[in-house]
Amino acid sequence: MYTIHPIITGFTHTSKGTYLYHHSVHKYFDCDGFLDLPVTVFLVQGGGRKILIDTGMSDTERAGKYHHPGSKQPEGFAIYDQLKKIGIECGEIDAVVFTHLHWDHVYYLDHFPGADLYVQKNEYEFALNPIPLYHKSYEYPAIGIKPQFEGRSFNLLEGETKIMDGISVYPSPGHSVGHQTVVVKTRDGDYHCCGDLIFTYDNLREIPEIAYDISPPGRFLDIVDAWHSIVELKKRAASREMILPTHAPEMKDLVNSGRILGA
Ligand SMILES: [Zn+2]
Repeated sequence: MYTIHPIITGFTHTSKGTYLYHHSVHKYFDCDGFLDLPVTVFLVQGGGRKILIDTGMSDTERAGKYHHPGSKQPEGFAIYDQLKKIGIECGEIDAVVFTHLHWDHVYYLDHFPGADLYVQKNEYEFALNPIPLYHKSYEYPAIGIKPQFEGRSFNLLEGETKIMDGISVYPSPGHSVGHQTVVVKTRDGDYHCCGDLIFTYDNLREIPEIAYDISPPGRFLDIVDAWHSIVELKKRAASREMILPTHAPEMKDLVNSGRILGA
C-alpha cells in the first residue's frame, strides 16, 4: 500500500478552447479564455520506496522561450525544491515512472541520476526521433536545446506491465504515441495517474444529445486512440476521485487542501 502526495511544479498558460475541449463539444462548455493549468507530479511512498510519477516542468524562462509563453514556474516550484520542502532529497527517489516524455513531465532529470526510469518503449522511440511538429514537445536537438532524457537509460515497457508490487501501468495512447496511465494501490483503492489523457474532469462527461460517451479534449495526437483510452480509463477507475490528471484545474484545490491520498 502506498500514499500519494500531489505536488505542483508550475503552471501552463492554456487556451480552454484549444486544449481542454474539442471543437465539437464547445457549445456544451465554457471554452472562452485561458487558464493557468497546474503541472502536477505525484510522489508515491510505501514499502520503503519513494517513487515519482513524472518530474514536472522547466523554469519560466525556458517554458516561455520554447513552449507556452505565459507559463510560470514560481520560485520554489521546481521538483527538487518541492521535494526539499517536504523533507526529501532527490537522491532518495528510487524510481521515476513517466506517463510520457513531453517537456512538462520530464524536467530536472539530472537531479535523479540514480533513479530507475520507466516509460513505454514506443514513447521513448518517438521522443528520440519525433516528427518536426513535436520537436518542441520533446525538446528535440533541432530546436537548439538538449532533451532532459538525453544519455539516460530507461526501462522500456511494452504494454500493460506490473512495475513493482502495487504499481502498474497500462497504455493510454492518444495524447502521445506511447502515453501510459500509472495505477497505484492505496488504502483508498487504486488511483489512476492518467497524465495528459484528459485535461479536465469534464473530458469524462457524456453528452447524450450527440451520443458522446466522453467529451474529448482539444489537444491530441490521435483522436481515435485518445477516445478509446478515455473510455477505458472510465471503465477501469472505480470513480472520478480515483483519477488524477496532470493538468486538471481541480488539482490546485487538492494540493491546497494538503491531503495525502491513501494516508
Ligand atoms: Zn502535459
